[in-house]
Amino acid sequence: MTGTADGADLAAWIRLAAERVAADAGRLTSLDAAIGDGDHGLNLDRGLAAAVAALPDGAPPGKVLTAAGRAVVSKTGGASGPLYGTALRRAGKAFGDADPIDAAALGAGLRAALDGVRELGQAAGGDKTMVDALIPAVASYDAALAAGTGLAGCARAAADGAAQGADATVPMQARKGRASYLGERSIGHMDPGAASTALILRALADTLTERD
Ligand code: ADP
Ligand code: MG
Repeated sequence: MTGTADGADLAAWIRLAAERVAADAGRLTSLDAAIGDGDHGLNLDRGLAAAVAALPDGAPPGKVLTAAGRAVVSKTGGASGPLYGTALRRAGKAFGDADPIDAAALGAGLRAALDGVRELGQAAGGDKTMVDALIPAVASYDAALAAGTGLAGCARAAADGAAQGADATVPMQARKGRASYLGERSIGHMDPGAASTALILRALADTLTERD
C-alpha cells in the first residue's frame, strides 16, 4: 500500500506533536539551558498549543498546516518560532489544494519546509541547528520514496534520519543562533532545535503508522 493523508491526519499529527513536546518540554529546555537560554521547551509548548487551538475542522492538508504555522509564528517566540512557523507554512503551501496528499506530496512538503528554514535562518548543514535534523530527514524520506516505500514508511525514514541528525549535532560547534555565542563551549551538547525536530517528525511517523 502506498497511502495518503488527509487534513484530519495532519491535524492528528499536530496534536500528537503538541502532546509530546509538552511531555518533553523539560528535556528540550535543559538542552537549551546547556547551550542557549533554557526556553526552547517552553517556547515550543506554547507555540504548538496555539497551533492545536487554531486547527481548522474539515480543512485540506495544506490549510491545516498553514493555520498551524501562522499560530506557531505568532505564539512560539524565540528564534525557533519563526523558523518552525515558516516550515509549516511552506509545507502547507507546497500541498496546495491537494486532498488527500500522497507520499510524493508529503516529501515535497518536507523539502519545502527545509528550504524555508534555510532561507530564513541562513544556516547550513553542520552549523548545529534544526537544519542538521531536517537535511537527513529529507534525504532519508526521498530515498525511501525512490525505493517505492509507502507514505507511513517514508515518514518513519524521515524520523529516523532526523534522530540521527540530532545525535550528530553533539560534537558540532554552533555557528548560528544563541548557541554560537558559546563558541567551542557549544561542543558536546545536542542542539535543542534538532532534538525537537526529531521529536516532531517521530510524531508524524507514529500518527501515520498507527492510522494504517
Ligand atoms: P532562542 O534561541 O531565541 O532562545 P529557541 O530556544 O526556541 O530560541 O530555539 C533555539 C533553536 O533554534 C536552536 O537550537 C536551533 O536549532 C534553532 N535555530 C536558532 N537559530 C537558527 C538559524 N539561524 N537557523 C536554523 N535554526 C536556528
Ligand atoms: Mg532558547
